[in-house]
Amino acid sequence: MTATPSAATLDAGIRALGLDIALRDAAELAGRHPGTHPDNFGAGLVARPADTAALAGLVRWCRAEGIALVPQGGLTGLVGGTVSAPGMLAVSTDRMTAIEAIDAASGIAVVQAGATLEAVQQACAAVGMEPGIDLGSRGTATIGGLVSTNAGGIQAFRHGVMRHRVLGLEAVLPDGSLLSDMTQVVKNTTGYDVKQLLIGAEGTLGIVTRVVLKLSPLPAARAVALLALPDATAALRLGQALNADPALSLQACELMTRDFLHLNAEAQGTSLPGGVAEAPVTLLVETAGATPEGAAAALETALDALWEPCGLLDGIVAQSLDQARRLWHLREDMSVFAARYPGYLSCDISVPPARVGEATARINAALAEVEPGLSALVFAHLLDGNLHVIPRRGGLTPALRARLEDAIYGGLAAMGGAMSAEHGIGSKKQRAYEAHVPAAKRAMVAAIKAVLDPAGLFNPGKIVAVQGEQA
Ligand SMILES: Cc1cc2nc3c(=O)[nH]c(=O)nc-3n(C[C@H](O)[C@H](O)[C@H](O)COP(=O)(O)OP(=O)(O)OC[C@H]3O[C@@H](n4cnc5c(N)ncnc54)[C@H](O)[C@@H]3O)c2cc1C
Repeated sequence: MTATPSAATLDAGIRALGLDIALRDAAELAGRHPGTHPDNFGAGLVARPADTAALAGLVRWCRAEGIALVPQGGLTGLVGGTVSAPGMLAVSTDRMTAIEAIDAASGIAVVQAGATLEAVQQACAAVGMEPGIDLGSRGTATIGGLVSTNAGGIQAFRHGVMRHRVLGLEAVLPDGSLLSDMTQVVKNTTGYDVKQLLIGAEGTLGIVTRVVLKLSPLPAARAVALLALPDATAALRLGQALNADPALSLQACELMTRDFLHLNAEAQGTSLPGGVAEAPVTLLVETAGATPEGAAAALETALDALWEPCGLLDGIVAQSLDQARRLWHLREDMSVFAARYPGYLSCDISVPPARVGEATARINAALAEVEPGLSALVFAHLLDGNLHVIPRRGGLTPALRARLEDAIYGGLAAMGGAMSAEHGIGSKKQRAYEAHVPAAKRAMVAAIKAVLDPAGLFNPGKIVAVQGEQA
């Protein structure tokens, strides 16, 4: 058995390649924030290739030396997909950030994997377009990370998930070869669509280097409202009615349960009218229009008409950009969870939208069976049935964590749902993946992994439990 190479040995070996690869060693990493997992810099060395050619050379060297690679983008992933350990090499795309082209007439952007979502959004906005994907981590999350987690987010009900936004893709495969499928068209049935294998693969099948994104027209102005409702069924009825109204062009429809809203409002020092603060659920909606005044007026007219049929209890329509931003902050800020429930469990599931209320009730009942009185904070991208579920409990032992996961994930398959909607499996959800994803699907995943990465060197310990033979 070969000894684990030290970071210093890897550092020297990479320098000797003579490629344009910058390195961050342990001393430099000590001063940096590791992102959403404390072990992201566990390898003690991060390689930062300047371009695809340098990355391909690095991958070939790692393959020859039997060194495992951990692809890293913005480090905002929530499932431990970027965790690395001594003997491995973290590979960051943070020097591959160019926005190479934006073609508004064809509705496409060509971007490098390390570009942040926000940078791409801003570049697209300059020509009146948007990438059709948006999420709270936009300022740090990268296009490569979004592709590799098949990110969804706020606009998925409208524009689809990353799978639907990627027209073309370039990636370095585990053997160092290049998959270059940078087609710029929606219609492309030239046999198997192999780029889809890389989307949602969490860096286990290749490192994404460049992407062609499909763009959509950017609305000129927006209106935001926070609406109080008796339950998820009424919220869905309202959300669907707003979505069906062409005068509104619904952009977002986010559900929050009372406990979730209370926690964030209290942490942010935001006071809300009682009818909103005490409602069983609230819906944060955003609509679009030609002007801010026009968008707000159209939303208010629609809400007047829907008030009784949808059982609305109360509501706030934002009167300024600042108020809109504060309403969004109630939904997007997650910093309070860790302080209140240290080491909390974060689940990200999906069910058919009409079953969101039923799923929430079932989960709370199952959690109370594990521990009397235990319930979950729930917030959801409502129109695509994607619920984020946080049991109100910190200090979890591995055994309790597993029981809570099983309580939340059990029964999802029977509802036609999924145990990971948009965050992926990474290292944190591997036990649950084994327990709740059908064996036949897992076997197929392992078979594909074995063909493309027989030595198991690409992001070991993520998604696929069996790592293949180490070279
Ligand atoms: C506040 C907050 C809000 C969030 N909201 C949402 C949301 O609404 N919807 C959603 O889907 N997610 C959300 N996330 C999760 C996260 O932002 C996404 O998973 C995002 O896609 C990760 O991008 P990243 O660049 O940070 O990737 P990283 O965290 O760096 O990596 C994520 C995974 O992708 C792999 N990877 C990264 N870059 C590449 C590459 N170039 N090639 C191959 N593999 C690569 C990594 O190995 C890892 O497995 C949120 C996170 C936070 C902190």
